[in-house]
Amino acid sequence: MTATVAFVFAHPDDETYLASALIRRLADEGSPPVLLLATRGDAGQKNGAYAHESPQQLGVRREREMQRAAELLGLSVVEYLGYPDGKLNQMEEEEFVARIAEFLNRHQAQAVVTFPEDGGNGHPDHVTISKRTAQAVCSGRTPAVRKLYYVQSAALTEQGREPALQLDTESYWPVKAAALAAHESQRLAVERFFGELGNVLPEARRYESFALAWENGGGWPKKREDWILDGLSDE
Ligand SMILES: [Zn+2]
Repeated sequence: MTATVAFVFAHPDDETYLASALIRRLADEGSPPVLLLATRGDAGQKNGAYAHESPQQLGVRREREMQRAAELLGLSVVEYLGYPDGKLNQMEEEEFVARIAEFLNRHQAQAVVTFPEDGGNGHPDHVTISKRTAQAVCSGRTPAVRKLYYVQSAALTEQGREPALQLDTESYWPVKAAALAAHESQRLAVERFFGELGNVLPEARRYESFALAWENGGGWPKKREDWILDGLSDE
């Protein structure tokens, strides 16, 4: 079966860190995934070589890097809301939610993946995009959406929220490493998290895990899934 899964994140590279294997597998199986990013990452930390660039220039650079990563991951669509990096919590709430809903509806997304409520790492942009995405989905404004996933976090595990879906990234590591490397301006941060990018999968980053926060109107159904498209229909 095929269906559209939408990924909604804050910055170019969030998707590659957290969901490369999931995205690539969807594409390989004939369900082209779509990505919505709230910002172009124009305030992101820069490697020494790009330290002189203005936010505008960095945004252009990161959009280009994202395009390369998208090709590697098989993302069919990458769209931007164009909000300023680092300021998502200052953006007008109603319009923000409406724009996410519009994206999900236009692509007829049936499943949505975003950050957990604490943003995973507490980044204020991650927290805000999680909240606005949940508002769009859970308010009934996106009738085609059946499931909302949060990237698994330590906080969720502590609360007893086990991941519904877990992917072993081993066979996807070469493509994930290449997509991470495509985000060249972020290389210092990438290598802090994954170690030096090479052929060997860093064991501590082996799994991509996702918690099912909402399904068909109900919060936190307790289940384990074999695949993200389980329970979706072809219509
Ligand atoms: Zn981010």
